[in-house]
Amino acid sequence: MLSGAKSSLRTRDTHESLSPTTEDYSVLKERSTAKNVKSLLFSSPGQIWRSRVSWRIAAAVFMTILLVQTLVLYFGTLPAYKDRLLKDLRESGRGAIASIIDTSVSINEVPFSEDQVKRLIYTTNVSGLSIYTYETDYLSTFGARPTQNVGQLQDTSFTIFDEEAANYVTVLNPGDLKRPYYVVMRMNSQEVLDEISTYIQDTIWVMLTMSLFVTTVLMIALGRWLLEPVLFMRRNLLAAFQNPEQPNIPDSPFDKRDEIGGAIDLANKLILQNADNLTRIKSAAEDKIHKLAYYDTLTGLPNRTLFVQTLSERARQKSDGTADRFAVVTIDLDHFKDINDSMGHNVGDAILRSVAKRLRAAMPESAVVSRSGEDEYAIMMPLSSSINTSRDVAEKVLHVIRSEPFKVFNEAFQVRASIGVSTFPDDAVDPDQVLKNADIALNRAKEEGRDAIKEYSEDFDRAVQQRFQMLRDLRDAMEHEQLQLYYQPQLDLRTGKVIGAEALLRWWKPDNSKQGGTFISPGEFIPVAEQSGLIVPIGEWVMKTACTMAKSWHDEHDLKDLRIAINVSGAQFTQSDICGFTQRIINEVGINPERVELEVTESIFMDDIGHTIQTLQNLHAIGVELAIDDFGTGYSSLSYLRQFPIDRLKIDQSFIRNALNDQDDASIAKTIIALGRALNLSVIAEGVETIEHEKFLQSEGCDEVQGFRYSRPIPAEDFLEFVKSYNGDLKSFG
Ligand code: C2E
Ligand code: MG
Ligand code: MG
Repeated sequence: MLSGAKSSLRTRDTHESLSPTTEDYSVLKERSTAKNVKSLLFSSPGQIWRSRVSWRIAAAVFMTILLVQTLVLYFGTLPAYKDRLLKDLRESGRGAIASIIDTSVSINEVPFSEDQVKRLIYTTNVSGLSIYTYETDYLSTFGARPTQNVGQLQDTSFTIFDEEAANYVTVLNPGDLKRPYYVVMRMNSQEVLDEISTYIQDTIWVMLTMSLFVTTVLMIALGRWLLEPVLFMRRNLLAAFQNPEQPNIPDSPFDKRDEIGGAIDLANKLILQNADNLTRIKSAAEDKIHKLAYYDTLTGLPNRTLFVQTLSERARQKSDGTADRFAVVTIDLDHFKDINDSMGHNVGDAILRSVAKRLRAAMPESAVVSRSGEDEYAIMMPLSSSINTSRDVAEKVLHVIRSEPFKVFNEAFQVRASIGVSTFPDDAVDPDQVLKNADIALNRAKEEGRDAIKEYSEDFDRAVQQRFQMLRDLRDAMEHEQLQLYYQPQLDLRTGKVIGAEALLRWWKPDNSKQGGTFISPGEFIPVAEQSGLIVPIGEWVMKTACTMAKSWHDEHDLKDLRIAINVSGAQFTQSDICGFTQRIINEVGINPERVELEVTESIFMDDIGHTIQTLQNLHAIGVELAIDDFGTGYSSLSYLRQFPIDRLKIDQSFIRNALNDQDDASIAKTIIALGRALNLSVIAEGVETIEHEKFLQSEGCDEVQGFRYSRPIPAEDFLEFVKSYNGDLKSFG
């Protein structure tokens, strides 16, 4: 087993990465200070006496020795000793009796006098005797009678040893006495008993001393050769258990060739090997965690966390009190979601990787290029005399991205980006804030039409604060019913009839001014409502109010043909079930859906195109009409236009406004009208302010108009008044 473990250790030794090296051992040796070894060696004997195992072994050994010695005493040495003493006693009695036998007396008479016997009894241990002839005829008894039973004389080995009475009775035969008599002799054996007890006592002392000695020697031997090594190993294992990575284990002082020394050596090696493995595994895991925590897996660039950390480090003041100036540039790829949705994530990922690669290659070593979000990157670059403004950095970035299309799977993709720029410490001394400022600038760039660089300005901050304030106020406005709808007439350009109205939101915000409040333009608050999701409840309110109003025109004022145009923002498409609530409101109000038109902007085509088509189809299935608002300003692709169930194009007012003095705008307006005709869609022009506008549109064959020329957006009552008082002749507008 031991050799097996050893050999497996040796095989592992060949795996350099897993086995502790001699260097490791020497390090650990150093760690185990001399003090440790000393205390180990000298404290162990003390520990031996406290060791439970040692005490158990010692007790067992002690008891065994004692038991064996007791057995030997009781069955061996003690009976022999007793026999010897009794033999000596008998011999002394025999000698004494033999010495007083008178050989001249007839063999049938008592061979000694009473006086002689008395003296004998007085001077020796003999306390009484009975004498018989050699034919066992009783002759006489002197002193204490030894026994009553004469028949026992035949048994020459007859003895009685009454230990309680300290009596020893034995028979001396003619052979013993060398005379023809039998003598039954009674002797006082008290001396024998005393000697036996002394013998037992002495022997017990010797036994105890011996046992103690043997046990002590054994304990010391056990301690030295077994316990000490075991305790040493236990201490090492404990150290390894408590601190498996850096176990403080001294080198083994025990002979590696014996079984325990070998086991200790092996255990130490395993502990060190384990420590080494743990350290390696941990450092590998740490590396991995570090990578996951601080790097983006797709591009391999640092992620936002690491970027922020690096930013903080670089922003720290140097010892001379100065700090580096650096640019922070945040980049967001424009319409990346479209590429992802239409071309698939593989293409999207490949583009993200290529952008990362290009940016990294274009920036100097000293710059940090990171991927900070899905399609967002952030760059930090120290400013120097050669590149001394953050704008230069941003322009370089924009150039790098725009310079040539990205080739992915043999397709070329022209990627555009919005860029926010901020400078440390010019724009903020807090590195986090610098990044936030760059993000604020980036948002500005996105809001202002993307594909542009925006440098941070303090005004942005103010604008952000104002937006928050506006959002709070808008929530209040919803609660306190400060929102209203105005209606702007829409007219048929050929017949001159009012065909409907566009519902436009108005926010009357009360204040302390003379007028008691101000109107806030939807252009200001709609984007805030869109960003916060507040557009969903506002949109529902608009739709319900506008449909209810139109229903009253139809039913109460006999204006059954009037159409109500309702603006629906892109956010409502993505953030709510627009079909569900449109259907619900139409049912609730009971309006003819054909008299309801929803105006959507081209922005909805930038989101998930499949979802948009589906939603538009569902809306169309309800029966409502669909118009594309501000047509021509957005991003719509003509190829999509055919697939959408659209009824009307609404030419953006900017083209109408400039149609008469800008050839380009005029041709755009003309093209939209022609496109409408080609696709069998009706076309409405908004922003018609003058008769010239009207004439231009008439000559191009536009179907419908809306604008200040006819009426501004007006309250519902005014709208009714307008409709009722209007004579149906466009010329009446002058
Ligand atoms: P829009 O839908 O394009 O609305 C037309 C805007 O042009 C209105 O501005 C209207 O007052 C203005 N307008 C109409 N005729 C003329 C004209 O002859 N000359 C000029 N200069 N302007 C004219 P308004 O009411 O300020 O609304 C601005 C935008 O706010 C709307 O543009 C629309 O996108 C959004 N909006 C308004 N109401 C709502 C609403 O209920 N929901 C949503 N989602 N958006 C709304
Ligand atoms: Mg509109
Ligand atoms: Mg418009």
